[in-house]
Amino acid sequence: MLLVMQKGTTEDQVRAVVAAVEKKGYTARPIPGGDRVSIGILYNKGSVDAGHFLGLDGVKEVIPVTKPYKLVSREFRQENTQVKIGDAVFGNGTMPVIAGPCAVESQKQVLAIAASVKKAGATLFRGGAFKPRTSPYSFQGLGKKGLEYLARVREETGLPVVTEVMDTETFDLVEACVDVIQIGTRNMQNFSLLRRAGQSKKPVILKRGMSAMLEEWLMAAEYIMEEGNTNVILCERGVRTFVRHSRNTLDLSVVPAVKKESHLPVIVDPSHAAGVRDQVVWLAYASAALGVDGLMIEVHNHPEEALSDGAQSLYPDQFAQVMEKMRAIRTIIEAS
Ligand code: PEP
Ligand code: MN
Repeated sequence: MLLVMQKGTTEDQVRAVVAAVEKKGYTARPIPGGDRVSIGILYNKGSVDAGHFLGLDGVKEVIPVTKPYKLVSREFRQENTQVKIGDAVFGNGTMPVIAGPCAVESQKQVLAIAASVKKAGATLFRGGAFKPRTSPYSFQGLGKKGLEYLARVREETGLPVVTEVMDTETFDLVEACVDVIQIGTRNMQNFSLLRRAGQSKKPVILKRGMSAMLEEWLMAAEYIMEEGNTNVILCERGVRTFVRHSRNTLDLSVVPAVKKESHLPVIVDPSHAAGVRDQVVWLAYASAALGVDGLMIEVHNHPEEALSDGAQSLYPDQFAQVMEKMRAIRTIIEAS
């Protein structure tokens, strides 16, 4: 249940309503909104009697929340959540692009790629230091050294850096070094990792599980928000289907579905969906046309020598062209 407060409600009024909710044995969670505060009632078993709260000072209306996810749902918060990272804002109608290689391979490599993606208009840099690889014999990432190389990218370019955290053991280390924490597809339902991310002050990009339904994905985000971290960005990166012409199938239809169900920003990663760069280009255009809140695209200065995901990594020049066309597509959509 959600208690929507009147405009201009004072902190004392909010405190009094929170106290009244807790007195009934429920947990109250104030949620600041654009021009008014709402108070969520959590952990109720069964329905809550609206009559307990309707007459309280400052309470405008009481809305029952019918979804299993609460904090992430549109019922709880009507306005889009905006996640601000450096110069980028996810969720305000703009389309920031996160770009960089699949894996951090050397200081020289990340600095070169960062300079080119920045020039093309990317506002965040990505690169994996701890890599979740299908085979234990594949390159596993540079670990701590990779994080140091990313920190240097931030120093030299001013771009905030995004990297994946694979487990709770390395969480503190990753959290201390980067600006945005990515939880990968393979960890979407790693609940201890989600809870740890929820305790972080850093924004989190939560990728959709390889075969996760919308509800499962939103429930995973709920774990993070429930621990107190409201800066969550959802990322569609393709789901496993029966096809062989692409690595995964980009589920573009999930974007409007997420927007209907949740106030969280949703971005698209066409690189891991497609698996091959020729398709990445077109899926990026389609994503731009869809009005996504941002994109994540893999770029490598020498993709043929990349230690992971070379086939799907765009060449820097190709990325610059894609950025230009995406901007043009976006302009048409916005004008129409
Ligand atoms: C990645 O972004 O490098 C990655 C491994 O992505 P995903 O979790 O979507 O496979
Ligand atoms: Mn990759």
